[in-house]
Amino acid sequence: MSVAMLSRDRLHRLIARERQRYAEDHPASLALFNQAGHLIAGVPMTWMSKWSGGFPLYLDTAAGATVTDVDGHRYADFALGDTGAMAGHSAPAVTAAITRRAVQQGGLTTMLPTEDAEWVAAELARRFGLPLWSFSLSATDANRWAIRLARLVTGRPKILIFSYCYHGSVDETFAILDDSAAARSRPGNVGPAVDPTSTTRVASFNDLESVRAELEHGDVAVIVTEPALTNIGIVLPEPGFLDGLRRLASQHGTLLLIDETHTLSAGPGGMTGTERLQPDIVVVGKSIGGGIACGAYGITEQVAARLAEHTRTGAADIVDVGGVGGTLAGNALSTAAMRATLAEVLTEQAFQTMIELATRYTAGIQASIDEHGLPWSISRLGARAEYRLCSPAPRTGNDSAAAADPDLDEYLHLYLANRGVLLTPFHNMALMCPATEVADVDLHTGLFAAAVAELLGR
Ligand code: PMP
Repeated sequence: MSVAMLSRDRLHRLIARERQRYAEDHPASLALFNQAGHLIAGVPMTWMSKWSGGFPLYLDTAAGATVTDVDGHRYADFALGDTGAMAGHSAPAVTAAITRRAVQQGGLTTMLPTEDAEWVAAELARRFGLPLWSFSLSATDANRWAIRLARLVTGRPKILIFSYCYHGSVDETFAILDDSAAARSRPGNVGPAVDPTSTTRVASFNDLESVRAELEHGDVAVIVTEPALTNIGIVLPEPGFLDGLRRLASQHGTLLLIDETHTLSAGPGGMTGTERLQPDIVVVGKSIGGGIACGAYGITEQVAARLAEHTRTGAADIVDVGGVGGTLAGNALSTAAMRATLAEVLTEQAFQTMIELATRYTAGIQASIDEHGLPWSISRLGARAEYRLCSPAPRTGNDSAAAADPDLDEYLHLYLANRGVLLTPFHNMALMCPATEVADVDLHTGLFAAAVAELLGR
């Protein structure tokens, strides 16, 4: 039986059963959720409403790859803060560094640099091959500021993105291609200042012709993309696509910004390192602070030289109130955390272990898919893997969006959570950290197989 033939009645019965078990097993979380009267949507950040089961689990403690909720349940955590905790929860090297900074040395944010910033910039330069870096407190802000710089140095107004990309809450990126391949504001886009199609050209991932057609207008400052889409399932680049992007960008006088916030999972220098990419700008964030807020963007010497032309005259103000800046960016705590994370936690060797685990995870899921002849696929990107309820694996953002099945996602997420495994609440993404163990992976593999068998009535 394939899932196309799956009984939706059966699926809905299973969801109801899992929802009931979730509510019964988590009374303390439910009570805290019900008490929250002053939080919009009842949660500290509205995306926390995304957890399946009607309410989120409340955190008690977390260490390494394990989270414990206020009802005392332990979970193998593959959500890992949607990549923010790729270094593992409270990695000892990170907590030692932030304690040193906060307690022994003192000074969390002071308007003064510390020597950690140059160390981190040099390490990012070594990993990504771009020599000059600046800091933010989120990948969103790094993208925003980098886009401004790209418009400044090219003198062009627009950016090019791929349909169903995500780069944080950056206004210009909230556009998609509709069924007739026309660009339009992304459904659900909250209060856009202007129609994003006036700031943005939209192409289809893995489709160089669609990129060429948009660049030919001559008004695109920068292509902003992840090297693999990771926010609409995982959509891997086909051979030649990323090289083609570089070529097209250069031909059209457009810069190439590679957002490695999630794809850092590929290795110490992300896919820029593994695929030997040559971006003009790289953005990173989330994970490199080991859980402390951070973000960074790097630029080439050429971009820096063009930037200097504009700043020398004072025409562009990158120092004060010109639109590139965050008061707490580059603060002492954040840079101490980034230094410890890069020096001691997300090391070359750690990536090897994480990638081996993700390979094991992927093989386990593939075995279940094969055994049951499911029309599903699993894609891996270094230490990250994600199953998508379609086969073959999607090759564009629109293909992947069309494969969304919220009911199946809810069933799988709840089945796993009720038995001690957390996946990221956004689609079915799982990430390994240096503390993830083979037993965690095998627990997930066994539960996935059992969930599928029940779903198919076997
Ligand atoms: N870029 C990418 C590729 C992301 O996936 C995200 C968040 N999921 C961001 C940027 C924004 O990160 P943050 O929310 O930490 O600003």
